Amino acid sequence: MLDHHVHTKRCRHAEGIEEDYILAAIRENLKVIGFNEHFPMSYLPRSIPVEEYAMDLEEFPEYIKEATRLREAYKEEITVKISTEVDYFEPAWKQIVEFLKPFLDQLDYIYGSVHVVDDWAVDDERFSNKWQDNDKDIIYGKYYKALIAMVRRGYFDVVGHLDLPKKFGHHPSAPMDGILDVLLDAIKENDMVIEVNTAGLRKPIREIYPSRTILENCFEKDIKITLGSDAHEPSHVGYEFNSTIEFLKEIGFEGIYTFNKRQKEFASFESMDGP
Ligand SMILES: [Zn+2]
Ligand SMILES: [Zn+2]
Repeated sequence: MLDHHVHTKRCRHAEGIEEDYILAAIRENLKVIGFNEHFPMSYLPRSIPVEEYAMDLEEFPEYIKEATRLREAYKEEITVKISTEVDYFEPAWKQIVEFLKPFLDQLDYIYGSVHVVDDWAVDDERFSNKWQDNDKDIIYGKYYKALIAMVRRGYFDVVGHLDLPKKFGHHPSAPMDGILDVLLDAIKENDMVIEVNTAGLRKPIREIYPSRTILENCFEKDIKITLGSDAHEPSHVGYEFNSTIEFLKEIGFEGIYTFNKRQKEFASFESMDGP
């Protein structure tokens, strides 16, 4: 079992330090734990409460340093991967690249995620009024357009929680097959990996990200997948992985991908002895 997506209290909205997550992962018999802390977000619009979503840029080196130290300290028991979840925001593209540059050679993979549409985060329940005031089709349309732009940059390794706007149960008036098809084709063309994220099972939608239909399309298109719990507390590590792997096998997937210094590596379900 491999969990590629855990946060720590460094992001200011999660609990526990890195070591707590490593110990939880060892208890769960995981073979890999990937720290995927939110990348500092100072480049986002001022209306976004970024100080509640991520650490400051000055703190980022300490995060890498601590994860690297623990990777060495626990190497006999578990493999530690180091990553960051970048909030893709098209107008700030140049800044994002500039900020990330010094850390690229220390990262095993980089997530590209979109949380912000216009000037609010679609997954922040404090802005749920925005869902009432806006046309859901327009929000979804802008969200997927931003994801397509992110993928086409050819810069990131993984697409995080692909259908995140469904978190609170808001859906478009009709399935967005057209734009989703463009998105999946772009992901395939850029050889990106889609994250199967079990956090949705803990949210009001009670469903994995992305949906079964989208995952079936991924399988048809031979798109690679990876797995993450999006843990914001140590007890979330490996959340619902056993049932999720069964679900993925049902669709036809034979394994997931992990990463080593930005290189993909296949890990078959067969090779994973579950806890
Ligand atoms: Zn978070
Ligand atoms: Zn996220």
